[in-house]
Amino acid sequence: TVRVRIAPSPTGNLHIGTARTAVFNWLYARRHGGTFVLRIEDTDRERSLPRYTRNILAGLAWLGLDWDEGPIYQSNRIERYREVVQQLLEQGLAYRCYVSEAELEEMRTAQKAAGKAPRYDNRHRYLTEEQRQAYEAEGRQPVIRFKIEEPLEVSWVDLIRGQITWNTQDLGGDMVIARADGYPLYNLAVVVDDLDMAITHVIRGEDHIGNTPKQILLYRALGHEPPQFAHSPLILNPEGKKLSKRDGATSVAEFQQMGFLPEALKNYLALLSWSPPDGEEIFSFEKAATLFDFDRVTRSAARFDWDKLNWINSQYIKQLSPPELVERLSPFWQAAGLELATVPDPAWLEDVARLIGDGIDRLTDAPSLSRFLLQESLSYTLPALEQLRIPGVAEAMTAMAEALQTVTSVKVTVETLKPLVDQVAKTQGLKKGLLLKSLRAALTGDLQGPDLMESFVLLQRRGWALGRLQAVQK
Ligand code: GLU
Repeated sequence: TVRVRIAPSPTGNLHIGTARTAVFNWLYARRHGGTFVLRIEDTDRERSLPRYTRNILAGLAWLGLDWDEGPIYQSNRIERYREVVQQLLEQGLAYRCYVSEAELEEMRTAQKAAGKAPRYDNRHRYLTEEQRQAYEAEGRQPVIRFKIEEPLEVSWVDLIRGQITWNTQDLGGDMVIARADGYPLYNLAVVVDDLDMAITHVIRGEDHIGNTPKQILLYRALGHEPPQFAHSPLILNPEGKKLSKRDGATSVAEFQQMGFLPEALKNYLALLSWSPPDGEEIFSFEKAATLFDFDRVTRSAARFDWDKLNWINSQYIKQLSPPELVERLSPFWQAAGLELATVPDPAWLEDVARLIGDGIDRLTDAPSLSRFLLQESLSYTLPALEQLRIPGVAEAMTAMAEALQTVTSVKVTVETLKPLVDQVAKTQGLKKGLLLKSLRAALTGDLQGPDLMESFVLLQRRGWALGRLQAVQK
Protein backbone atom coordinates (compact mmCIF):
# COMPACT_ATOMS: atom_id res chain seq x y z
CA THR A 1 0.00 0.00 0.00
CA VAL A 2 1.07 3.53 -0.76
CA ARG A 3 2.54 5.61 2.06
CA VAL A 4 3.74 9.10 1.26
CA ARG A 5 4.81 12.07 3.35
CA ILE A 6 5.72 15.68 3.37
CA ALA A 7 8.50 16.71 5.66
CA PRO A 8 8.65 20.48 6.02
CA SER A 9 11.31 22.11 8.17
CA PRO A 10 9.79 24.72 10.50
CA THR A 11 12.43 27.29 9.63
CA GLY A 12 9.93 29.49 7.81
CA ASN A 13 6.25 29.82 7.00
CA LEU A 14 4.56 27.25 4.77
CA HIS A 15 6.08 27.97 1.37
CA ILE A 16 4.06 27.75 -1.80
CA GLY A 17 6.53 25.14 -3.15
CA THR A 18 6.04 22.95 -0.10
CA ALA A 19 2.29 23.35 -0.49
CA ARG A 20 2.53 22.17 -4.10
CA THR A 21 4.60 19.17 -2.95
CA ALA A 22 1.88 18.50 -0.38
CA VAL A 23 -0.73 18.69 -3.15
CA PHE A 24 1.06 16.02 -5.20
CA ASN A 25 1.51 13.79 -2.15
CA TRP A 26 -2.10 14.23 -1.09
CA LEU A 27 -3.41 13.46 -4.59
CA TYR A 28 -1.17 10.42 -4.96
CA ALA A 29 -2.20 9.05 -1.57
CA ARG A 30 -5.90 9.56 -2.29
CA ARG A 31 -5.57 8.10 -5.79
CA HIS A 32 -4.17 4.89 -4.39
CA GLY A 33 -6.11 4.67 -1.15
CA GLY A 34 -2.82 5.29 0.61
CA THR A 35 -1.67 7.12 3.70
CA PHE A 36 -0.38 10.68 3.81
CA VAL A 37 2.03 11.32 6.67
CA LEU A 38 3.06 14.73 7.98
CA ARG A 39 6.51 14.95 9.52
CA ILE A 40 8.01 18.10 10.97
CA GLU A 41 11.78 18.13 10.43
CA ASP A 42 12.73 20.28 13.36
CA THR A 43 16.26 19.07 14.02
CA ASP A 44 17.80 22.45 13.22
CA ARG A 45 17.79 23.72 16.78
CA GLU A 46 18.76 27.28 15.97
CA ARG A 47 16.38 27.97 13.10
CA SER A 48 13.28 25.90 13.96
CA LEU A 49 10.54 27.90 15.67
CA PRO A 50 7.17 26.78 17.09
CA ARG A 51 5.39 29.61 15.29
CA TYR A 52 6.56 28.26 11.94
CA THR A 53 5.24 24.82 12.87
CA ARG A 54 1.89 26.41 13.73
CA ASN A 55 1.92 28.29 10.44
CA ILE A 56 2.66 25.10 8.47
CA LEU A 57 -0.11 23.09 10.17
CA ALA A 58 -2.61 25.95 9.78
CA GLY A 59 -1.71 26.44 6.12
CA LEU A 60 -2.15 22.77 5.26
CA ALA A 61 -5.44 22.65 7.16
CA TRP A 62 -6.66 25.82 5.39
CA LEU A 63 -5.87 24.22 2.04
CA GLY A 64 -7.77 21.11 3.10
CA LEU A 65 -4.69 18.93 2.64
CA ASP A 66 -5.56 16.71 5.56
CA TRP A 67 -2.95 14.24 6.69
CA ASP A 68 -3.63 10.74 7.97
CA GLU A 69 -0.70 10.37 10.36
CA GLY A 70 1.26 12.90 12.32
CA PRO A 71 2.50 15.45 12.78
CA ILE A 72 5.53 13.45 13.79
CA TYR A 73 8.34 15.60 15.18
CA GLN A 74 11.93 14.64 14.48
CA SER A 75 12.97 16.32 17.70
CA ASN A 76 11.16 13.52 19.55
CA ARG A 77 13.18 10.86 17.76
CA ILE A 78 16.77 11.94 18.47
CA GLU A 79 17.49 8.76 20.47
CA ARG A 80 16.43 6.65 17.52
CA TYR A 81 18.85 8.46 15.18
CA ARG A 82 21.65 8.10 17.74
CA GLU A 83 20.99 4.38 17.81
CA VAL A 84 21.36 4.14 14.02
CA VAL A 85 24.52 6.28 14.02
CA GLN A 86 25.96 3.99 16.69
CA GLN A 87 25.07 0.96 14.60
CA LEU A 88 26.78 2.39 11.51
CA LEU A 89 29.88 3.17 13.60
CA GLU A 90 29.98 -0.36 14.97
CA GLN A 91 29.60 -1.84 11.51
CA GLY A 92 32.52 0.25 10.28
CA LEU A 93 30.27 2.03 7.79
CA ALA A 94 30.75 5.36 9.55
CA TYR A 95 33.64 6.92 11.46
CA ARG A 96 34.63 9.88 13.60
CA CYS A 97 36.29 12.67 11.70
CA TYR A 98 38.31 15.26 13.64
CA VAL A 99 39.18 17.58 10.80
CA SER A 100 38.71 21.14 11.99
CA GLU A 101 36.81 23.86 10.16
CA ALA A 102 40.11 25.62 9.44
CA GLU A 103 41.61 22.46 7.93
CA LEU A 104 38.51 21.94 5.80
CA GLU A 105 38.82 25.50 4.57
CA GLU A 106 42.48 24.96 3.71
CA MET A 107 41.55 21.79 1.86
CA ARG A 108 38.91 23.57 -0.19
CA THR A 109 41.23 26.48 -1.04
CA ALA A 110 43.90 24.11 -2.31
CA GLN A 111 41.32 22.20 -4.37
CA LYS A 112 40.03 25.40 -5.85
CA ALA A 113 43.54 26.56 -6.73
CA ALA A 114 44.05 23.24 -8.53
CA GLY A 115 40.81 23.80 -10.44
CA LYS A 116 39.01 20.98 -8.67
CA ALA A 117 35.56 20.89 -7.11
CA PRO A 118 35.70 21.25 -3.33
CA ARG A 119 35.24 18.04 -1.40
CA TYR A 120 36.25 16.32 1.78
CA ASP A 121 39.22 14.12 0.96
CA ASN A 122 38.29 11.33 3.38
CA ARG A 123 41.54 11.85 5.29
CA HIS A 124 40.24 10.62 8.63
CA ARG A 125 38.64 7.49 7.27
CA TYR A 126 41.50 5.27 8.43
CA LEU A 127 42.81 6.91 11.58
CA THR A 128 44.67 4.61 13.91
CA GLU A 129 43.51 4.25 17.49
CA GLU A 130 46.52 6.32 18.59
CA GLN A 131 45.77 9.17 16.20
CA ARG A 132 42.19 9.21 17.35
CA GLN A 133 43.18 9.39 20.98
CA ALA A 134 45.62 12.18 20.22
CA TYR A 135 42.84 14.23 18.65
CA GLU A 136 40.54 13.48 21.56
CA ALA A 137 43.26 14.57 23.97
CA GLU A 138 43.48 17.83 22.03
CA GLY A 139 39.81 18.28 22.83
CA ARG A 140 38.68 18.18 19.20
CA GLN A 141 34.98 17.56 18.62
CA PRO A 142 34.51 14.99 15.85
CA VAL A 143 31.65 14.70 13.39
CA ILE A 144 30.35 11.34 12.23
CA ARG A 145 30.92 10.65 8.56
CA PHE A 146 29.35 7.94 6.46
CA LYS A 147 31.76 6.19 4.08
CA ILE A 148 30.96 6.68 0.44
CA GLU A 149 32.59 4.16 -1.83
CA GLU A 150 34.11 5.65 -4.99
CA PRO A 151 33.78 5.31 -7.88
CA LEU A 152 30.32 3.84 -7.95
CA GLU A 153 27.22 4.54 -9.95
CA VAL A 154 23.99 5.07 -8.08
CA SER A 155 20.84 5.22 -10.12
CA TRP A 156 17.13 5.24 -9.69
CA VAL A 157 14.15 5.49 -11.96
CA ASP A 158 12.53 8.73 -10.97
CA LEU A 159 8.77 8.60 -11.41
CA ILE A 160 8.78 12.08 -12.92
CA ARG A 161 12.25 12.42 -14.42
CA GLY A 162 13.01 8.89 -15.53
CA GLN A 163 16.39 7.21 -15.03
CA ILE A 164 18.88 9.31 -13.06
CA THR A 165 22.46 8.22 -12.45
CA TRP A 166 25.06 9.77 -10.19
CA ASN A 167 28.65 8.84 -9.73
CA THR A 168 29.65 8.76 -6.08
CA GLN A 169 32.76 10.77 -7.03
CA ASP A 170 30.46 13.75 -7.35
CA LEU A 171 29.03 13.52 -3.84
CA GLY A 172 31.73 15.54 -2.12
CA GLY A 173 33.42 12.75 -0.19
CA ASP A 174 32.31 10.89 2.92
CA MET A 175 29.25 12.67 4.22
CA VAL A 176 28.57 14.04 7.65
CA ILE A 177 25.53 12.30 9.14
CA ALA A 178 25.78 13.42 12.75
CA ARG A 179 27.56 15.70 15.15
CA ALA A 180 29.89 14.43 17.85
CA ASP A 181 27.01 13.75 20.24
CA GLY A 182 25.14 11.72 17.66
CA TYR A 183 22.73 14.56 16.88
CA PRO A 184 21.63 13.78 13.31
CA LEU A 185 21.84 15.74 10.10
CA TYR A 186 19.11 15.87 7.48
CA ASN A 187 20.21 13.01 5.21
CA LEU A 188 20.42 10.54 8.05
CA ALA A 189 17.24 11.53 9.85
CA VAL A 190 15.21 11.54 6.65
CA VAL A 191 16.30 8.00 5.74
CA VAL A 192 15.71 6.61 9.22
CA ASP A 193 12.27 8.19 9.28
CA ASP A 194 11.22 7.15 5.81
CA LEU A 195 12.25 3.59 6.73
CA ASP A 196 10.59 3.57 10.14
CA MET A 197 7.44 5.12 8.69
CA ALA A 198 7.43 2.60 5.81
CA ILE A 199 7.28 5.34 3.20
CA THR A 200 6.84 3.82 -0.27
CA HIS A 201 7.11 6.97 -2.42
CA VAL A 202 9.20 10.02 -1.70
CA ILE A 203 7.58 12.86 -3.63
CA ARG A 204 9.50 16.11 -3.17
CA GLY A 205 11.00 19.09 -4.93
CA GLU A 206 13.72 18.82 -7.51
CA ASP A 207 16.08 20.75 -5.24
CA HIS A 208 16.57 17.47 -3.35
CA ILE A 209 17.81 15.42 -6.33
CA GLY A 210 21.41 15.78 -5.17
CA ASN A 211 20.50 14.27 -1.80
CA THR A 212 18.86 11.21 -3.28
CA PRO A 213 22.05 9.25 -4.20
CA LYS A 214 23.38 9.84 -0.69
CA GLN A 215 20.14 8.65 0.80
CA ILE A 216 20.07 5.58 -1.44
CA LEU A 217 23.54 4.64 -0.15
CA LEU A 218 22.28 5.01 3.40
CA TYR A 219 19.24 2.82 2.75
CA ARG A 220 21.54 0.11 1.43
CA ALA A 221 23.91 0.48 4.37
CA LEU A 222 20.94 -0.03 6.66
CA GLY A 223 20.00 -3.17 4.76
CA HIS A 224 17.00 -1.88 2.86
CA GLU A 225 15.98 -1.06 -0.66
CA PRO A 226 15.11 2.61 -1.10
CA PRO A 227 11.54 3.75 -1.71
CA GLN A 228 10.54 5.12 -5.10
CA PHE A 229 11.37 8.75 -5.81
CA ALA A 230 9.48 11.44 -7.67
CA HIS A 231 11.15 14.84 -7.93
CA SER A 232 8.75 17.54 -8.99
CA PRO A 233 9.87 20.61 -10.94
CA LEU A 234 10.40 23.86 -9.12
CA ILE A 235 8.10 26.84 -9.19
CA LEU A 236 9.81 29.87 -10.71
CA ASN A 237 8.68 33.46 -11.05
CA PRO A 238 7.43 34.76 -14.42
CA GLU A 239 11.04 35.70 -15.34
CA GLY A 240 12.24 32.16 -14.69
CA LYS A 241 14.05 32.95 -11.45
CA LYS A 242 13.55 31.48 -8.02
CA LEU A 243 10.26 32.66 -6.54
CA SER A 244 11.02 35.31 -3.93
CA LYS A 245 9.30 37.84 -1.68
CA ARG A 246 9.60 40.39 -4.45
CA ASP A 247 7.22 38.37 -6.64
CA GLY A 248 4.34 39.32 -4.38
CA ALA A 249 3.97 36.33 -2.12
CA THR A 250 5.74 33.10 -1.28
CA SER A 251 3.93 31.75 1.74
CA VAL A 252 0.48 30.22 1.82
CA ALA A 253 -0.57 32.63 4.58
CA GLU A 254 0.17 35.58 2.30
CA PHE A 255 -2.04 34.13 -0.43
CA GLN A 256 -4.79 33.72 2.14
CA GLN A 257 -4.44 37.38 3.17
CA MET A 258 -4.48 38.42 -0.48
CA GLY A 259 -7.99 37.06 -0.81
CA PHE A 260 -7.48 33.74 -2.55
CA LEU A 261 -9.82 30.88 -1.76
CA PRO A 262 -8.06 27.74 -0.55
CA GLU A 263 -9.80 25.58 -3.15
CA ALA A 264 -8.70 27.97 -5.91
CA LEU A 265 -5.08 28.14 -4.75
CA LYS A 266 -5.02 24.36 -4.41
CA ASN A 267 -6.45 23.95 -7.91
CA TYR A 268 -3.82 26.34 -9.27
CA LEU A 269 -0.99 24.58 -7.46
CA ALA A 270 -2.08 21.24 -8.90
CA LEU A 271 -2.04 22.81 -12.36
CA LEU A 272 1.55 23.98 -11.93
CA SER A 273 3.32 21.09 -13.68
CA TRP A 274 0.31 18.79 -13.88
CA SER A 275 -2.88 18.73 -15.89
CA PRO A 276 -5.77 16.29 -15.93
CA PRO A 277 -6.16 14.19 -19.10
CA ASP A 278 -9.33 16.05 -20.15
CA GLY A 279 -7.49 19.38 -20.09
CA GLU A 280 -9.93 20.93 -17.63
CA GLU A 281 -8.50 23.84 -15.69
CA ILE A 282 -11.08 24.07 -12.95
CA PHE A 283 -11.56 20.83 -11.07
CA SER A 284 -12.38 19.57 -7.62
CA PHE A 285 -9.78 17.67 -5.67
CA GLU A 286 -12.17 14.76 -5.40
CA LYS A 287 -11.99 14.51 -9.16
CA ALA A 288 -8.27 15.22 -9.41
CA ALA A 289 -7.66 12.44 -6.89
CA THR A 290 -9.19 9.94 -9.31
CA LEU A 291 -6.92 11.14 -12.14
CA PHE A 292 -3.56 12.11 -10.69
CA ASP A 293 -0.52 10.33 -12.01
CA PHE A 294 3.15 11.15 -12.51
CA ASP A 295 3.05 10.53 -16.25
CA ARG A 296 1.24 13.84 -16.64
CA VAL A 297 3.69 15.81 -14.49
CA THR A 298 6.04 17.87 -16.66
CA ARG A 299 9.78 17.91 -16.15
CA SER A 300 10.34 21.56 -16.84
CA ALA A 301 10.04 24.16 -14.15
CA ALA A 302 6.67 25.85 -13.76
CA ARG A 303 6.35 29.62 -13.99
CA PHE A 304 4.09 31.36 -11.59
CA ASP A 305 1.27 33.06 -13.45
CA TRP A 306 -0.70 35.59 -11.42
CA ASP A 307 -3.25 36.20 -14.17
CA LYS A 308 -4.14 32.55 -14.23
CA LEU A 309 -4.37 32.29 -10.47
CA ASN A 310 -6.59 35.39 -10.38
CA TRP A 311 -8.80 33.94 -13.09
CA ILE A 312 -9.15 30.59 -11.32
CA ASN A 313 -9.95 32.41 -8.10
CA SER A 314 -12.64 34.49 -9.81
CA GLN A 315 -14.22 31.30 -11.15
CA TYR A 316 -14.35 29.80 -7.67
CA ILE A 317 -15.79 32.99 -6.22
CA LYS A 318 -18.55 32.91 -8.86
CA GLN A 319 -19.43 29.35 -7.89
CA LEU A 320 -20.01 30.16 -4.22
CA SER A 321 -23.59 30.40 -3.00
CA PRO A 322 -24.53 33.82 -1.54
CA PRO A 323 -24.38 32.63 2.09
CA GLU A 324 -20.97 31.03 1.46
CA LEU A 325 -19.73 34.17 -0.20
CA VAL A 326 -20.88 36.29 2.75
CA GLU A 327 -19.01 33.96 5.06
CA ARG A 328 -15.80 34.22 3.02
CA LEU A 329 -16.08 37.97 2.57
CA SER A 330 -16.94 38.85 6.17
CA PRO A 331 -13.36 38.76 7.50
CA PHE A 332 -12.24 41.03 4.66
CA TRP A 333 -15.11 43.47 5.21
CA GLN A 334 -14.34 43.54 8.90
CA ALA A 335 -10.63 44.04 8.29
CA ALA A 336 -11.56 47.05 6.16
CA GLY A 337 -13.49 48.49 9.07
CA LEU A 338 -16.95 47.89 7.60
CA GLU A 339 -19.76 47.35 10.06
CA LEU A 340 -21.83 44.25 9.35
CA ALA A 341 -23.88 44.11 12.54
CA THR A 342 -26.26 46.85 11.40
CA VAL A 343 -27.18 45.53 7.95
CA PRO A 344 -30.96 45.28 7.34
CA ASP A 345 -31.12 41.47 7.20
CA PRO A 346 -29.01 38.48 6.09
CA ALA A 347 -30.71 38.35 2.69
CA TRP A 348 -29.72 41.96 2.01
CA LEU A 349 -26.05 41.19 2.75
CA GLU A 350 -26.24 38.10 0.55
CA ASP A 351 -27.55 40.28 -2.27
CA VAL A 352 -24.60 42.63 -1.76
CA ALA A 353 -22.21 39.68 -1.92
CA ARG A 354 -23.86 38.35 -5.07
CA LEU A 355 -23.77 41.79 -6.70
CA ILE A 356 -20.02 42.18 -6.30
CA GLY A 357 -19.06 38.51 -6.36
CA ASP A 358 -19.42 38.25 -10.11
CA GLY A 359 -16.85 40.89 -10.87
CA ILE A 360 -13.99 40.25 -8.48
CA ASP A 361 -10.79 38.22 -8.74
CA ARG A 362 -9.98 38.25 -5.05
CA LEU A 363 -11.92 38.59 -1.82
CA THR A 364 -9.78 41.62 -1.04
CA ASP A 365 -11.39 43.42 -3.99
CA ALA A 366 -14.76 43.36 -2.21
CA PRO A 367 -14.50 46.06 0.50
CA SER A 368 -13.72 48.96 -1.84
CA LEU A 369 -16.45 47.86 -4.27
CA SER A 370 -19.09 47.57 -1.57
CA ARG A 371 -18.09 50.34 0.79
CA PHE A 372 -20.90 52.61 -0.46
CA LEU A 373 -23.37 49.92 0.61
CA LEU A 374 -21.87 49.19 4.01
CA GLN A 375 -20.86 52.61 5.24
CA GLU A 376 -23.41 55.36 5.56
CA SER A 377 -21.11 58.33 5.08
CA LEU A 378 -20.09 58.50 1.45
CA SER A 379 -16.84 59.79 0.07
CA TYR A 380 -16.78 61.01 -3.52
CA THR A 381 -14.04 60.63 -6.07
CA LEU A 382 -13.01 63.75 -7.93
CA PRO A 383 -14.60 62.63 -11.23
CA ALA A 384 -17.84 61.89 -9.36
CA LEU A 385 -17.88 65.40 -7.88
CA GLU A 386 -17.26 66.87 -11.32
CA GLN A 387 -20.11 64.81 -12.72
CA LEU A 388 -22.47 66.19 -10.10
CA ARG A 389 -21.49 69.76 -11.02
CA ILE A 390 -22.62 69.40 -14.62
CA PRO A 391 -25.48 71.88 -15.23
CA GLY A 392 -28.87 70.29 -14.69
CA VAL A 393 -27.56 67.32 -12.71
CA ALA A 394 -28.36 68.63 -9.24
CA GLU A 395 -31.92 69.41 -10.34
CA ALA A 396 -32.24 65.92 -11.78
CA MET A 397 -31.14 64.40 -8.48
CA THR A 398 -33.73 66.48 -6.63
CA ALA A 399 -36.37 65.31 -9.10
CA MET A 400 -35.21 61.73 -8.58
CA ALA A 401 -35.48 62.12 -4.82
CA GLU A 402 -39.02 63.38 -5.21
CA ALA A 403 -39.95 60.55 -7.54
CA LEU A 404 -38.43 58.05 -5.15
CA GLN A 405 -40.74 59.23 -2.39
CA THR A 406 -43.71 58.17 -4.45
CA VAL A 407 -42.49 54.57 -4.35
CA THR A 408 -44.50 52.87 -1.68
CA SER A 409 -44.17 49.18 -2.54
CA VAL A 410 -42.49 47.27 0.25
CA LYS A 411 -40.24 45.24 -2.00
CA VAL A 412 -38.28 47.54 -4.29
CA THR A 413 -36.83 45.96 -7.38
CA VAL A 414 -35.02 47.07 -10.49
CA GLU A 415 -38.44 47.00 -12.20
CA THR A 416 -39.83 49.46 -9.65
CA LEU A 417 -37.00 51.93 -10.14
CA LYS A 418 -36.49 51.82 -13.90
CA PRO A 419 -39.64 53.80 -14.75
CA LEU A 420 -38.49 56.53 -12.35
CA VAL A 421 -35.26 56.96 -14.25
CA ASP A 422 -37.11 57.19 -17.55
CA GLN A 423 -39.54 59.67 -16.08
CA VAL A 424 -36.85 61.95 -14.63
CA ALA A 425 -34.83 61.84 -17.86
CA LYS A 426 -37.87 62.99 -19.71
CA THR A 427 -39.06 65.72 -17.34
CA GLN A 428 -35.56 67.11 -16.85
CA GLY A 429 -34.67 66.85 -20.51
CA LEU A 430 -31.48 64.92 -19.80
CA LYS A 431 -29.91 62.17 -21.90
CA LYS A 432 -30.44 58.87 -20.15
CA GLY A 433 -26.73 58.06 -20.25
CA LEU A 434 -25.88 61.32 -18.51
CA LEU A 435 -28.59 60.76 -15.94
CA LEU A 436 -27.42 57.23 -15.13
CA LYS A 437 -23.81 58.35 -14.79
CA SER A 438 -24.88 61.15 -12.47
CA LEU A 439 -27.07 58.82 -10.48
CA ARG A 440 -24.09 56.54 -9.99
CA ALA A 441 -21.97 59.45 -8.82
CA ALA A 442 -24.66 60.53 -6.35
CA LEU A 443 -25.45 57.09 -4.99
CA THR A 444 -22.00 55.48 -4.91
CA GLY A 445 -19.59 58.42 -4.94
CA ASP A 446 -17.76 56.98 -7.94
CA LEU A 447 -18.19 56.65 -11.68
CA GLN A 448 -17.39 52.94 -11.67
CA GLY A 449 -18.71 50.06 -9.67
CA PRO A 450 -21.16 47.21 -9.63
CA ASP A 451 -24.44 47.22 -11.56
CA LEU A 452 -26.08 50.60 -10.97
CA MET A 453 -29.74 49.63 -10.77
CA GLU A 454 -29.00 46.70 -8.44
CA SER A 455 -26.94 49.05 -6.29
CA PHE A 456 -29.81 51.55 -6.28
CA VAL A 457 -32.22 48.84 -5.11
CA LEU A 458 -29.89 47.76 -2.32
CA LEU A 459 -29.42 51.33 -1.16
CA GLN A 460 -33.17 51.92 -1.22
CA ARG A 461 -33.72 48.74 0.81
CA ARG A 462 -31.19 50.03 3.27
CA GLY A 463 -32.94 53.39 3.45
CA TRP A 464 -29.92 55.35 2.22
CA ALA A 465 -30.89 56.18 -1.37
CA LEU A 466 -33.02 59.22 -0.63
CA GLY A 467 -30.44 60.88 1.57
CA ARG A 468 -27.72 60.44 -1.03
CA LEU A 469 -29.86 62.04 -3.72
CA GLN A 470 -30.80 64.92 -1.43
CA ALA A 471 -27.15 65.44 -0.54
CA VAL A 472 -26.47 66.66 -4.06
CA GLN A 473 -26.84 70.43 -3.73
CA LYS A 474 -26.94 72.87 -6.52
N1 GLU B 1 12.91 18.93 5.39
C1 GLU B 1 13.13 18.83 3.98
C2 GLU B 1 12.65 20.10 3.31
O1 GLU B 1 11.87 20.84 3.90
C3 GLU B 1 12.38 17.62 3.46
C4 GLU B 1 12.89 17.10 2.20
C5 GLU B 1 12.29 15.74 1.87
O2 GLU B 1 11.11 15.71 1.55
O3 GLU B 1 13.00 14.76 1.98
O4 GLU B 1 13.04 20.43 2.23
